[in-house]
Amino acid sequence: MANISAPIVGATPIVIPISHAVRWIIGTLIAAFAVYYFVGVDQGATSVFGADTHIHEFVHDARHFLGFPCH
Ligand SMILES: [Zn+2]
Repeated sequence: MANISAPIVGATPIVIPISHAVRWIIGTLIAAFAVYYFVGVDQGATSVFGADTHIHEFVHDARHFLGFPCH
């Protein structure tokens, strides 16, 4: 009787040079702060597009989740 065993497949670590990792971290932080600012800046009274409240309503639940004052 033949003994058939499957090869053991483990996780392969991804090796990223530190200079690339720093660039990705900084880029991610800049993008995250830009999104955070975009969610928080549109108060309704001070809207991105004038008196239009579409952005405010679009990110309304995110505003509540992040603790921005709303209504
Ligand atoms: Zn609200």
